[in-house]
Amino acid sequence: MKTSSNIKVKKIVVLPGDGIGPEVVAEAVKVLSVIAENSDLKFSFEEGIAGGVALEQQGIPLPEETLKLCQQSDAVLLGAVGDPRWDNNPSHLRPEMALLGLREKLGLFANLRPAKLYPSLIDASTLKKEVIEGIDLLVVRELTGGIYFSQPKGIKKTPNGECGFNTLSYNTFEIERIAKVAFQLALKRRRKVTSVDKANVLESSQLWRKVVTQVAKEYPTVELNHLYVDNCAMQLVRNPKQFDVILTGNLFGDILSDEAAMLTGSIGMLPSASLGEKHAMYEPVHGSAPDIAGLGVANPLATIASVAMMLRYSFEQVKQAEAIENSIASVLEQGYRTKDIMQEGCHLVSTQTMGNLVAEQVKQHLNT
Ligand code: NAD
Repeated sequence: MKTSSNIKVKKIVVLPGDGIGPEVVAEAVKVLSVIAENSDLKFSFEEGIAGGVALEQQGIPLPEETLKLCQQSDAVLLGAVGDPRWDNNPSHLRPEMALLGLREKLGLFANLRPAKLYPSLIDASTLKKEVIEGIDLLVVRELTGGIYFSQPKGIKKTPNGECGFNTLSYNTFEIERIAKVAFQLALKRRRKVTSVDKANVLESSQLWRKVVTQVAKEYPTVELNHLYVDNCAMQLVRNPKQFDVILTGNLFGDILSDEAAMLTGSIGMLPSASLGEKHAMYEPVHGSAPDIAGLGVANPLATIASVAMMLRYSFEQVKQAEAIENSIASVLEQGYRTKDIMQEGCHLVSTQTMGNLVAEQVKQHLNT
């Protein structure tokens, strides 16, 4: 297809994955297609297999062709991976290994998870209204280092039985790189970074704190404070409004980002972005939800919000990203709900209808 020079074709690789992955991804692609029809941004979509579906077809969770496709893309959109059929496989043959492989091979070292409360869903949270009203925070988690990747690790036989062990190490380069991402994002937000570690006990955290403090000097307009991870876990439920950007390592980030996510009430609402120097992958926070797969009840909003992040961070299309985010808020304000966020007096809609409603709203936003 011949395109005029001001039309940008972005190559998006779509990995629907398992369970509800294909259902929610279809709705996000629908929204991107509406963006393409109503702006000068154009997309080409290529589909790949990853997770349980790849195990079924090729016997491995992340085939080489899928990885190559992703390496040649402008952005990757992933649904979810995981299928109970493979739960008893050895760890390298489990669907979830596709995720770790993609993160590692694409160099996706920064995981961004916003937790923002949609006012019309305030009652979905288990916390008091006055605690969560207006929260808008972003967890920046280091994704390719720390205890999930450091060597040595394993399970060895000892005279006292088996011993499982892992290593937690971070070097200056890894800490500097993720800290810069957090400070740069803070510059576009409320200019506050809270770095989370366990420097009272762990040497790796002592280096983390020293390097983050050093990096902060390059960003004099951003306020930096440090919290121990146990205190941060407490503060997130006590007073989450104090946070703007939370910067932390892989293990602490895994736990804290789920905690932050639940402040907003529903896992079906939460997007994420994983960014590297060259590549980026966008996916909802939730898993493959095998309990509801194929029923047409899954909430597609997390995946739709993930493509808003794609537009913002990979394609620098803030207007289109905001059109999607505002459209999600409008559809919720109009009272439409999927089953997981259903409230009395609201209209229950299917996965597809929710996608159609957001797509229609995006069209209106872009044409007004
Ligand atoms: P899950 O997120 O899949 O589901 C947890 C609960 O939330 C379930 O009751 C599910 O029905 C519900 N839920 C999740 N997403 C929803 C949505 N969009 N709309 C409505 N309800 C939704 O977590 P799980 O049950 O612990 O894991 C299921 C599988 O997913 C496992 O194999 C796990 O390893 C995998 N997993 C994958 C990812 C990923 O691909 N990024 C993340 C987490 C879990």
